[in-house]
Amino acid sequence: MKTVNLTIDGHPAIAQPGDTVLQVAQQHGISIPTLCHHPDLTPVGSCRLCLVEVDGLPNPVSACTLRIRDGMVVRTETPALTEARRGILSLLLCSYTAPVDGCDTEFLRLVRRYGAQVPEGIEPEPPCAVDSDPNPFVRVDLNRCILCTRCIRACNEIQGRFVWHPAGRGSDMRLVAAADTTMLAARCESCGLCAAYCPTGALSDKLSAGLPQPDRLVRTTCSYCGVGCQLDLNLKDNTIVGVTSAPAAPVNGMALCVKGRYGYGYVNHAERLRTPQVRRYLLEGTAPRARPADRGEWAAVSWETALDLVATKLEQVRRDSGADTIGVLASAKCTNEENYLMQKFARQVLGTHNVDHCARLCHASTVAGLAMCFGSGAMSNTMTDVTQHAQAMLIIGSNTTEQHPVFGAQIRQAVLRRGMKLVVADPRRIDMAEFATLHLRQRPGTDIALINGILQIVLANGWQDQRFIDERCEDFDEFRATVARYTPEVVAGITGVAVVDLHHAAEILARSRPMAVVWAMGITQHTSGVLNVLSLGNLQMLLGNLGVPGGGVNPLRGQNNVQGACDMGALPNVYPGYQPVASVEAAQRFAAAWRLTGTEAYPALSQQQGLTVTELTPRAGDGTIRALYIMGEDPALTEPDANNARACLEACEFLVVQEILPSATAEYADVLLPGASFAEKDGTFTNTERRIQRVRRALDPPGEARPDWAIIAELARRVLRLQARVPSGQWAGWNYAAPAQIMDEIAALTPSYAGVSYDRLERGEQLHWPVKSYNHPGTPILHVGSFTRGKGRFHAVDYLPPHEQPDAEYPLLLTTGRVLYHWHGGELTRRVAALMEVCPEPLVEISPEDARALGLRHADPILVRSRRGTMAARALITDRVAPGVVFANFHFPGPQNANNLTVAALDPIAKIPEYKVCAARIEAAVDGGTLNAAR
Ligand code: SF4
Repeated sequence: MKTVNLTIDGHPAIAQPGDTVLQVAQQHGISIPTLCHHPDLTPVGSCRLCLVEVDGLPNPVSACTLRIRDGMVVRTETPALTEARRGILSLLLCSYTAPVDGCDTEFLRLVRRYGAQVPEGIEPEPPCAVDSDPNPFVRVDLNRCILCTRCIRACNEIQGRFVWHPAGRGSDMRLVAAADTTMLAARCESCGLCAAYCPTGALSDKLSAGLPQPDRLVRTTCSYCGVGCQLDLNLKDNTIVGVTSAPAAPVNGMALCVKGRYGYGYVNHAERLRTPQVRRYLLEGTAPRARPADRGEWAAVSWETALDLVATKLEQVRRDSGADTIGVLASAKCTNEENYLMQKFARQVLGTHNVDHCARLCHASTVAGLAMCFGSGAMSNTMTDVTQHAQAMLIIGSNTTEQHPVFGAQIRQAVLRRGMKLVVADPRRIDMAEFATLHLRQRPGTDIALINGILQIVLANGWQDQRFIDERCEDFDEFRATVARYTPEVVAGITGVAVVDLHHAAEILARSRPMAVVWAMGITQHTSGVLNVLSLGNLQMLLGNLGVPGGGVNPLRGQNNVQGACDMGALPNVYPGYQPVASVEAAQRFAAAWRLTGTEAYPALSQQQGLTVTELTPRAGDGTIRALYIMGEDPALTEPDANNARACLEACEFLVVQEILPSATAEYADVLLPGASFAEKDGTFTNTERRIQRVRRALDPPGEARPDWAIIAELARRVLRLQARVPSGQWAGWNYAAPAQIMDEIAALTPSYAGVSYDRLERGEQLHWPVKSYNHPGTPILHVGSFTRGKGRFHAVDYLPPHEQPDAEYPLLLTTGRVLYHWHGGELTRRVAALMEVCPEPLVEISPEDARALGLRHADPILVRSRRGTMAARALITDRVAPGVVFANFHFPGPQNANNLTVAALDPIAKIPEYKVCAARIEAAVDGGTLNAAR
């Protein structure tokens, strides 16, 4: 491409056509002051601070909007420009009615640099109210506002929320939320992006107000969802005083959601577990306890006492009744290194494949289904790829803007900025539906019929990619014969989606390629979860949307490291890197690597898979499983039919819980081991798009709490000593000095992580697995050229109705999910006061029609009942749900737990429960007292 030659401040510069003078100056290390400008935002040239002189132009012009020309001669700082800038800043100071002393903002640094002052004779405007908006996260002080509009553009262009607007004219102009209301009423998502871009402090982080300035920043990865945003922890002494954007963060840039930016309060929460605790009966030698339900008092003990006790008991159970009477739960909240160690502990030290984690409850059907289609069960493309290249997108069963908010905002940008066509298929009118070309509102649990209907229309119109099918896929004919039965009329009858909308959806998805499919738990948490995933695999094979930029199968993983926990083999059927436990070769490889010698040599590991979470808990109840060791998971809260799950945990003979906060499950524990939060340990998380990222220790754990990897290793050493076994295989030992060493072991034993190391990550390399060797760059897009299993396999999938349907006694269809301001069981977010201020209790969405029939008004206390239990909540009357459907979030414990209602029916392949559909009824609570009593 032809370059442009120009001169800036006497220096020759070469640049690309189309660049602005400001960009070229910055590329050549020349600083031009700006205020309204930010490289992420559309330039508006309104503050005029970046004026430059250009030979041949009569007046100075804004460098942020001026495109370069060949031969241009530019001066960026002359006495006249300096004087002009001082004047501009002085005028801005006239409307800046806040104190300037002691404040350090972008604006005030420029004021000082240019010596600007309020001009003599000009009266400052009267001050406005300080902290004028009740939003608990963003502090509004319009005394500092200079109307640079960075907040407006950030909210519009990045978040896609359109909260802020200028109101009034001339000197009366001011910033308002929507039509001069509060931020939350203007549908603000409290992401704090406006504050992050504000150069004056007019909008700032309320949680940091009045706190000491940080003395260091530590870059790490968010502890909430699988998007994997990076952020800077702002630290003072051993406390987080704020979180700020890490502008070069590869996934998210400046963007964070409300939980990532403001949900850190749990880290320094007063309830953090600080000391190992055991039940007193264990110390007094009265075990087994007299009554299963009566675990008695806690006693704080030393680590030696607690770990000796756990090691002795686990070894005793192993010797007495076999390793398979012990179950281990790893954690999608913990690091890759910790999950690797947890499954190594189960397999090598205890000798069981009974290891699982909460992926069972969210994406087990994705992993199984995609492996059946393609041989690999992960997101095929990256978030940046699909938001930049997809011409169309199908979002099905994903409330993306609330559950994966930064990715949700990126999808909104793709729609708004480049016209990507969006089809949303969801029984609820979720926020994303507002941005959709088409919203399909299928009945809950009818996804297979819906997808088959679309497939049938594609085939009937010849819109399939026959070449892709012929060259790269197999078993097409049986699939084709099956979907032929799903005519639009049949599908409309099952799903409730109009025939015309089915045709419209098929046409958009088939004729705008590449098309990306995005899904989450709305697809997976069904008894037909695996079949749902197979249907989506069919769709993308039929349209040839695999192995290409902008296409792919894109399941959004829930927890921060659920992808990594699966990769690490914290699953009962696979070793790390999805090497099947049924494989003789894999068993031999791990037996050699983890070899132990001693009185009892390393046992040959079974080639039978172990038990899943959803099998371990019931068997703990009936005594088949005698001991459970749970790290960072909360089955008492998160399992379906929670009343039964709690009864099983209560009956469990020996329960060890390793946690950072007292969870619902901790109530049933015999031993409580205090772990470290994400901010207190080193490690890695793998985000939903298979990107491996560093987690960095910024704080010391509270009290005697320890990083989980160190606890597991110490426990393993103790059990091995009791067994009189000594590590002798190359990777059999447990003496890790730091998590980097654990990653080296992972790389040695996990082909897809073979080239991953802390050195590479610290150098800033962006690694998406598979990373096949130290020189391999990683694999942002899967299935290019061929599938992991060779050919992609079509599956003939028939619609199966949900396990439980509404009836006369329970006439409503209950579906469950999450809300923006909480995360999963809420163990972390319920400890963040500002999040609780916005969402303090469960609201159950009910249609206006059903509310009228039940005589309910908005916010009335209600009791939701199913065949399994009762949930106390308040009614949120909204047309987000259709008549006959109610939606409950599952973030609250005890009587407010939606899982008191859900059904423990499982997908037969993935063993994932059907959280998304059960029959329920709603009663008005007699008065508010009923709700309180139910708590
Ligand atoms: Fe954290 Fe997810 Fe929010 Fe990003 S989108 S800040 S990873 S919760």
